[in-house]
Amino acid sequence: MSDLAATASSAYAQALSVIESVEPRISGAIRSELDDQRASLKLIASENYASLATLLTMGNWLSDKYAEGTIGHRFYAGCQNIDTVESVAAEHARELFGSEYAYVQPHSGIDANLVAYWAILNTRIESPTLARLGAKNVNDLSHSDWEALRREFNSQRVMGMSLDAGGHLTHGFRHNISGKMFEQLSYGTDPETGLIDYDQLLATAREFKPLVIVAGYSAYPRRVNFARMREIADAVGATLFVDMAHFAGLVAGKVFTGEENPVPYADIVASTTHKSLRGPRGGFVLATKEYSDAVDKGCPMVLGGPLSHVMAAKAVAFAEARTPDFQAYAQKVADNAHALAEGLMKRGVKLVTDGTDNHLVLLDVTTSFGLTGRQAESALLDSGVVTNRNSIPRDPNGAWYTSGVRIGTPALTSRGFGADEFDRVAELMVDVLKQTTPVTASNGQPGKAKYSLADGVADRTKASAAELLDANPLYPGLEL
Ligand SMILES: *Cc1c(COP(=O)(O)O)cnc(C)c1O
Repeated sequence: MSDLAATASSAYAQALSVIESVEPRISGAIRSELDDQRASLKLIASENYASLATLLTMGNWLSDKYAEGTIGHRFYAGCQNIDTVESVAAEHARELFGSEYAYVQPHSGIDANLVAYWAILNTRIESPTLARLGAKNVNDLSHSDWEALRREFNSQRVMGMSLDAGGHLTHGFRHNISGKMFEQLSYGTDPETGLIDYDQLLATAREFKPLVIVAGYSAYPRRVNFARMREIADAVGATLFVDMAHFAGLVAGKVFTGEENPVPYADIVASTTHKSLRGPRGGFVLATKEYSDAVDKGCPMVLGGPLSHVMAAKAVAFAEARTPDFQAYAQKVADNAHALAEGLMKRGVKLVTDGTDNHLVLLDVTTSFGLTGRQAESALLDSGVVTNRNSIPRDPNGAWYTSGVRIGTPALTSRGFGADEFDRVAELMVDVLKQTTPVTASNGQPGKAKYSLADGVADRTKASAAELLDANPLYPGLEL
């Protein structure tokens, strides 16, 4: 391990000197980013630290090759090495998640979702429209037929979790293309428990009759029962699409098994690779055989040339995720989130759903401290604690100021934090938030943005955070 870090240290030092000879501001920014990452108590639930092997895999000439198409069927000559890269990455993804098919080209989570949506439309828009147009699938249509099909696509319906309940913009939100491609109705959570109400979801789905049901979230602190989601989708003839962008690491690490593992239940699954899965920045799609041909058409339907250097890094990260070490990591992510939630609740903080059983925790800072999410996020940042404000269900402060702060354990767990460290993090956060007060706005109303932090709190918290960080170094042995 330390040998590897020593080798990586000299590899990076030399790479940076090459970059410096062309544009020193960029090598400088890369160096500073490492310092900043090392010095920040990163609680952003969607971020992580990829391994040095994963990071090193991205900086090379695989980036120079065009390889539009699929493995063995490229629109460019000379793609044999890219075929190897993509095959290995897809093989690892299939074996890791136990899926029938894996597509590793999407450049990001959003791209993966677009590939999935188009694959669903392509597979599901069948008989009447296509027969009338004399086509077997949408790829057979002429240009003029598309006008009719556009109307058909747009009258299709999607049901995803609402943004304030923790859903994502790509689940049919009106300012995202998913909300333009589909007629959308969202499902929320139970006002009492904060949990998904599956009976209500089924009743709504029976009325709305969606083509697609999206399960998955960015800010819901609980596990989802995908067997139940499958039953609901089957009851209304919908395709079950699971967006596991946030929690793919917990699926890969076998923390979510049985009915909590989406892969055996979903028709199609999309994900990022860079969140709890701890890989490079990117996306991928898993599918059943029924959808795999349509997923393969992701390029050219939605994507251009694949990022072959990133596909290579996905292969490395998937290989890492197949090890017992990664399973132990994933279990710690969940255990640590539990410790963090307990640490906050025993100090009087109100959490959405009163706890967590995944990797994230959503604080209701308005009920707990009389602050908006924006004030809390800023006061914590001043004190060296990096979080992000987030809506809570039926948020009284709206989507800009919000009433919540979302935190997660994947990144700090990668640094080696355990339950004791997360309890200390909870203590530091509560200390800061208790000593933050809203500043009255010019209209005499309680301000939603301005706040004041009691003297000395920020410096004291930064010093305590630094102790925790120094004891759990990022990339130990990497000397830069
Ligand atoms: C993060 C996220 C995405 C988008 O990922 P990007 O890589 O930022 O495009 C999509 N869906 C969910 C649920 C997410 O949390």
